[in-house]
Amino acid sequence: MTQSLKGRSVVVTGGSKGIGKGIARVFALSGAKVAILARHLDQAEAAAAEIGHGAFGVVGDVTSLASIESAFATVAARNGGIDVLCANAGIFPQARLEDMTSEQWDEVVDTNLKGTFHAVKAAVPYLKTSDQGRIVLTSSITGPVTGFPGWSHYGATKAGQLGFMRTACIELAKYGITVNAVMPGNIISEGLAGLGEDYQKTMAASIPLKRLGTVEDIGHAALYFASKEAGYVTGQTIIVDGGQILPESLEALA
Ligand code: NAP
Repeated sequence: MTQSLKGRSVVVTGGSKGIGKGIARVFALSGAKVAILARHLDQAEAAAAEIGHGAFGVVGDVTSLASIESAFATVAARNGGIDVLCANAGIFPQARLEDMTSEQWDEVVDTNLKGTFHAVKAAVPYLKTSDQGRIVLTSSITGPVTGFPGWSHYGATKAGQLGFMRTACIELAKYGITVNAVMPGNIISEGLAGLGEDYQKTMAASIPLKRLGTVEDIGHAALYFASKEAGYVTGQTIIVDGGQILPESLEALA
């Protein structure tokens, strides 16, 4: 495993639960100084205490640029800057297109897509001064590759993150900052558990590796993009889904 995250300042948005907590744990175990950002400070602090290795919680809401700027200033003051942003915070409430309200659409877009923009914009002043500036987005297979009923707004945001990334990485290349995205399949998280056991069983049956992913599966992919070794990789994606997008039919899974 890479040694290049040792002592690096890393902030993970949505790090108090699920995939973000998995990313935070993998980075902390690699020697990084990890800040866990979430709206509920108590949960961010609880996750940090569970992870240990000097991780700490910070309050912030990615739907507000001012909130994220203030949170990142706190992180930078405590850790001596920011080297890596894992822009992971996201929500996935379900609503079918015919029932979806404009407010429901806005909530998902404001958190997942505008929230990514806010986090990246607020992090750039710090990343510019790092010799290993890295941005890792948590996108999804849903939207960029697949579709699922109830997630037209969600899928639009997850595809939108990749469109954003492809220009952001060009603009930030002059500072040596890379921008890449992990595209998870179905990963066991608090958020996914909320979708119920039937959902999880159906999904596991549609995955060639026959299991849902773990949050650490995503953490390891994020760690690669953040490493020194990945310094020449930018604007790229990696799908971590146990092969879920591959089967052409149910027969392919037999
Ligand atoms: P989760 O278990 O529900 O955790 C979501 C995290 O985001 C929490 O820490 C939550 O803390 C934080 N959060 C939510 N809204 C926020 C806001 N406005 N500002 C700051 N933090 C906020 O979700 P997850 O399943 O780990 O998903 C994390 C990311 O992975 C999302 O971007 C999601 O789209 C993506 N993803 C997940 C899966 C999956 O199968 N689980 C698959 C593909 C992609 P607070 O509520 O305290 O703010």
